[in-house]
Amino acid sequence: MNSQELLKELIWFDTTKCFIDGAWEKPVSKKYIELFDPSNNSPICKIPRSNKSDVNLAVQAAQNSLSSNWGSFSSLERGRILNKIGLLVQDKIDRLAKIESLDVGKPLTQSKADASALARYLEFYSGAVDKIHGETIPYQNGYTVYTLREPHGVTGHIIPWNYPMQIIGRSVVGALAMGNAVVLKPSEDACITALAFGEICREAGLPKGVINIVPGYGNEAGEYLSNHPGINHISFTGSVEVGSKIQQNASKNIVPVTLELGGKSPQILFEDADIKKAIPFLLKAGLQNAGQTCSASSRILVQDSIYSKVENLLVKEYKNLSIGPAIQDYDLGPLISKKQAERVKKYLSLGEDLKQLVKLSLENNEFEKGNFVLPSLFGNVQPDHVLAQEEIFGPVQVLIPFKDEEEAIRIANGTKFGLVAGIWTKDGSRQMRMAKQLKAGQVFINNYGAGGGVELPFGGVGHSGFGREKGFEALKGFSVIKTVAVNHG
Ligand code: NAP
Ligand code: MG
Repeated sequence: MNSQELLKELIWFDTTKCFIDGAWEKPVSKKYIELFDPSNNSPICKIPRSNKSDVNLAVQAAQNSLSSNWGSFSSLERGRILNKIGLLVQDKIDRLAKIESLDVGKPLTQSKADASALARYLEFYSGAVDKIHGETIPYQNGYTVYTLREPHGVTGHIIPWNYPMQIIGRSVVGALAMGNAVVLKPSEDACITALAFGEICREAGLPKGVINIVPGYGNEAGEYLSNHPGINHISFTGSVEVGSKIQQNASKNIVPVTLELGGKSPQILFEDADIKKAIPFLLKAGLQNAGQTCSASSRILVQDSIYSKVENLLVKEYKNLSIGPAIQDYDLGPLISKKQAERVKKYLSLGEDLKQLVKLSLENNEFEKGNFVLPSLFGNVQPDHVLAQEEIFGPVQVLIPFKDEEEAIRIANGTKFGLVAGIWTKDGSRQMRMAKQLKAGQVFINNYGAGGGVELPFGGVGHSGFGREKGFEALKGFSVIKTVAVNHG
């Protein structure tokens, strides 16, 4: 069976339509975008090329839902419906995972983890929604002052191609939990599971207009959504370049934004680290989803005295990696597109002066049809080298030796990003000092990523963005505080 036939067996909705006001609608333009399986570049389906008119209809439907049904739902009712959506997602994990692997080239085990994470977000937020509330504030005699936590209204969500299901979980689900109505613009390179989510919401009985999905190009549907005066908040996940544009667009309408941007996240190994425990984390954090992960640990900082040992162990692990089609669940799949593969190869050409520690090959010439890039590990890299500074978004890691704690912090903090950092040491005082000084939104000690952790606030500093998603913190971001002061004499 080819990729297209396989996908046809898996989908139970029409990928050529937008999801607007609870129904599947043809795009007003009647234009479509063809999607390809990144593992072999064969066509798999068509999706709508939404334009200004579709976005207008989506925003209008979202506004209507707030002034009719959704706006009057209690937090308990919202929680119950999210829970129902979560159970339906849970039932469809295998199916959603296969769809994702065909659409974005993510190895099946990792796609399953994404679908499970989406179910978990729904579980978490369905339970959290009636536990977040305002406060009473002690004030002058004769007054009672309290705060109400209210939704923004219509929230716009522009998401990238690398983790569509997880990002829907942390962004869209959080916004729905707080009573917002959503317009979602997924990446045109990865939008089938986003459409599946729309259908699952419909099946669960989410009222019409509460979630609207307008697939299309960033510079058309995305640009228009971020400029739309009917949007009250924008959650953007993607590149620094586009994030900056979104912020400028939103500023024209005085609309708050959450920006989840890129990273160049370090893991730092001191000589007292449990190296054996660290190695799988170093590898997974760098190569999961072929390195196309915002929190990828693309820099590995190693103290001089253990440098050779760590380098040898990593080389051994790299040599055992398998690379091949996503649906066959190799360790690494292809990159999302030819464009992304070319971008990564361009970076690799800038590393010709560096020591490439491994040489791998594809096990089958057939695989050359896909967007495969072989993983690269570079040794003894200077911290200011372009490969140690810029986000490559591919299977590339650099090893950087350091002398002491002070130098480790200087190197770790020496990029424009600040998303995640990992520290490996048994020294408790050093753990505390480092955690405090590292420029990052999340710091992991003797682990990295904590398995995703839907409960853990996530976001960046510097060029990695601002605002927090995940956990209860996200619910604060997806709502506003209203202060009510009652003078009762
Ligand atoms: P991207 O090019 O910035 O695209 C992100 C989203 O923005 C896509 O839906 C894209 O649509 C849309 N878009 C593009 N141009 C736009 C415009 N002018 N106006 C409005 N929307 C526009 O990023 P990407 O290449 O998809 O993803 C890679 C980047 O995302 C990396 O830098 C990575 O670090 C970052 N990322 C960050 C996180 C995080 O949580 N911090 C998570 C995942 C990814 P189209 O794709 O349809 O063009
Ligand atoms: Mg695709």
